[in-house]
Amino acid sequence: MLDAKQAMMKNHSFWQYKYGDYPANAPLPEGAYEVDVLVIGAGFTGLTCAREIRKDDKAKRVMVLDANEIGFGASGRNGGFNMTLFGIEPEVTMLRWGKEKTREAQDYMQKAVEYVRNLVESENLDSDYEHTGMLRIAYSDKQARRLKKTYNLLCETTKPGSFEYLDGAETQKLLNCPHIKGAIYEPGTGILDPSKHVRQLKILAEREGAEIYENTKVTGITKKDGCTVVLTDNATITAKKLVIATNAWTHNLKSTPKVSNIQAPIWTYQVVTEPLTEEQWKGVNWAGRMSIEDNRQLVHYMRITKCGRITMGGGAIGIEYNDSKMDLWKDEKVWADLERHLKWMFPSLQDIKIDYKWGGCVSCNTDMTPEIGFIGDNNIIYSSGCIGHGVSLTQLNGRLIADLVLEKDTSLSKFWIVNRTALPMPPGNLLRYVGAKFIEGVLKAVDFYEEGHLKAKTSGETA
Ligand SMILES: Cc1cc2nc3c(=O)[nH]c(=O)nc-3n(C[C@H](O)[C@H](O)[C@H](O)COP(=O)(O)OP(=O)(O)OC[C@H]3O[C@@H](n4cnc5c(N)ncnc54)[C@H](O)[C@@H]3O)c2cc1C
Repeated sequence: MLDAKQAMMKNHSFWQYKYGDYPANAPLPEGAYEVDVLVIGAGFTGLTCAREIRKDDKAKRVMVLDANEIGFGASGRNGGFNMTLFGIEPEVTMLRWGKEKTREAQDYMQKAVEYVRNLVESENLDSDYEHTGMLRIAYSDKQARRLKKTYNLLCETTKPGSFEYLDGAETQKLLNCPHIKGAIYEPGTGILDPSKHVRQLKILAEREGAEIYENTKVTGITKKDGCTVVLTDNATITAKKLVIATNAWTHNLKSTPKVSNIQAPIWTYQVVTEPLTEEQWKGVNWAGRMSIEDNRQLVHYMRITKCGRITMGGGAIGIEYNDSKMDLWKDEKVWADLERHLKWMFPSLQDIKIDYKWGGCVSCNTDMTPEIGFIGDNNIIYSSGCIGHGVSLTQLNGRLIADLVLEKDTSLSKFWIVNRTALPMPPGNLLRYVGAKFIEGVLKAVDFYEEGHLKAKTSGETA
């Protein structure tokens, strides 16, 4: 088994490191193959989709390929929040798509959270799932005023009782963080260990008869005689239907221009502390174990792990100029900022040590809205734009894509993100980079405006 240093060198997440030795399936052997459905990418989307197709139709030959070990992508390295946030923010969905579609999106996300929870319970999955609820916290009066508006919008667009607004004093009874001015509490959400969960999804997909090959990179996609022909280094797969579930890597697939312009990767980073002592847990008073996000634009997310540590991520993002490199796994500055923020939030944890650090990439599209679309005819289906909120979304999307593959007309297949109007990414690295940097600058400016007076935080002091 790798030690922590070796695992970090290999860009494994804490969850992957902690999982220990993982026996990956063999790569796809050299040869020519014919399948009914080929799925590229073995994260939550690809594995769920493969399993659901085989569950419904055992006659279909379903193959899944991943360039790495399953879960090497976002699915094995995320915060593990089984949450209802759709896209970037409800305000953005409302502005771009209107109230009715925001309502439908909220409904879809609540179903997605339940889909994951039911799966864990009905299949008795070893995913360390806890249905803890979630807090979204504000550190300043300005952030709290904006949070109240978000709360009102969420109440207008979701079932009654889904959210509760708490003032600073009420929130501080749930969490000993002296800076909190208010929070939204959402009981219907949970947390899981993403690496354990994705490996459980692999077992379920294989149990249904999907064939999964790891460390098998797709190097090209072409069309021949109405079928799709997919190439790896040493094999050719002819597929009646193709599902592109490569998330933040999709732009790098050698295929049509549409595939390269669907989305771009954005990087996010996480740290995890050493296990807390009983005394330290008393100090933070986080007895409800709920997951937490703050109400910043460049949001921090944090939670407790099953093994008694705190993990925190976000606060800044990584944008790569040459997005074909996909190599922003490490950022010492962001990791240091996360440690500082954690100690700022919890003054009783001044001496806590960070044991592990990692990064990962999420799929971001131009209008910050999840999308499921087709390339050419209806035989190539892709999913994009999880925007960092995909633990529940991508698993229900997997079920939805199974309906599309099987040409079933269902309530899921009618969800408006399917075949929606999509705005292509700006062409070329320079335009994309400048655009992303501009948006990042605006987000930072709003955070500075809303919390500029929190001197200790912004100056990096830990007082
Ligand atoms: C650090 C981090 C924290 C996050 N926290 C949360 C959270 O708490 N809650 C939440 O809801 N969401 C979170 N997310 C987002 C969430 O993890 C993702 O939305 C979700 O896991 C995406 O799943 P996926 O299956 O679509 O893609 P991925 O899991 O990224 O899978 C894509 C797969 O495609 C494979 N691939 C790529 N190119 C090729 C190729 N050419 N050939 C073959 N295979 C290829 C990759 O190896 C990868 O395994 C977070 C993401 C990150 C990175």
